[in-house]
Amino acid sequence: MDRTILDYLRRDGLLREGHFAYRSGHHSGALLDRDRLLADPQAASHMGYALAKEFFTDLVETVAAPSIWGAGLAQWVAYFLDPKAKIVYATPHNGEPTIAQNLDELIRGKRVLLIDNLIISGETLRRFDRTIEDLGATVVGMGTLWNCADQEINGHRVFGLLNTLYDAYPADACPLCNAGAPPPITVPY
Ligand SMILES: [Zn+2]
Repeated sequence: MDRTILDYLRRDGLLREGHFAYRSGHHSGALLDRDRLLADPQAASHMGYALAKEFFTDLVETVAAPSIWGAGLAQWVAYFLDPKAKIVYATPHNGEPTIAQNLDELIRGKRVLLIDNLIISGETLRRFDRTIEDLGATVVGMGTLWNCADQEINGHRVFGLLNTLYDAYPADACPLCNAGAPPPITVPY
């Protein structure tokens, strides 16, 4: 992974190392400041580039995000694909992430990459994937800065950029627990 990204996370205090328990039941050695993760455009562009590189050969036509947090990252990912992809993102409608109707043509029959800033339980992307596929897209994969859920969602591979450094594990397979680390700090999400 690009060293610049890790330097940025450490320099700006966006990464806390330790032993953490998430609501999904997974444990990890990392806690990210999800609110400020994409606050620095230079770092956001590096992270978007790294994600684009991972899906470079998947012929992505549209990058879709289920939230405004994912949308910021999706802009960079789409920009660094070649040819550049289009971007669509959901906006909340009656509490559900909804795709505006006039965006259908960017999804129907297209090869779509789903991007979110973080995947915590995986539930948001699981539902969003169904929405996108119901609109007639082929979902080619899912990318995120960090994945705390399963490595596959609805049969699609999930790539978490920071997982190569800080993976998440089911509690009963947590290497920190197994090594006798102090009990995890509970994260409220
Ligand atoms: Zn643990």
